[in-house]
Amino acid sequence: MSIGELSVPALRYVNWRFVEDYFERQEQGMDANQQARAEKKRRLLRELAELQVAEMADAGQFDQTPHFGTIERAASELGKELSREAQQRAAREVAAVGEARAACPTCGALCDVATNCRIVNSIDGPVELTECVADCRQCRRSFFPSTDSDGVG
Ligand SMILES: [Zn+2]
Repeated sequence: MSIGELSVPALRYVNWRFVEDYFERQEQGMDANQQARAEKKRRLLRELAELQVAEMADAGQFDQTPHFGTIERAASELGKELSREAQQRAAREVAAVGEARAACPTCGALCDVATNCRIVNSIDGPVELTECVADCRQCRRSFFPSTDSDGVG
């Protein structure tokens, strides 16, 4: 049986204590900074869940007992939204810590590296990725410094 087949009344009997135990086990062995970050993450995730429920309530989805599949789908969409945000942020980080100049893989000349944005399809939907691209004037080609592969231009 998948979680989508469970009815909401059935879920009321599930003991959610195991979720708390899971987070507590994870937090063992963390330093103060890591623990504060983990707590903030958990707080923000709960806040997101609250916003999700408020949105669903506004849409009248709790006027009658919903099938759990409805709840599962809405939660999954929220997760995908978070995933896309995290991917975009991490890509910006990769671009930010990249070198300002890179050697052309063809002629070896040092070239200025610029950042470029493009939309790519991730498993969780389209994301705007920031990437480093260098332009070699001698070879009249661009390349991705991180992969040494040809750029888009
Ligand atoms: Zn070159």
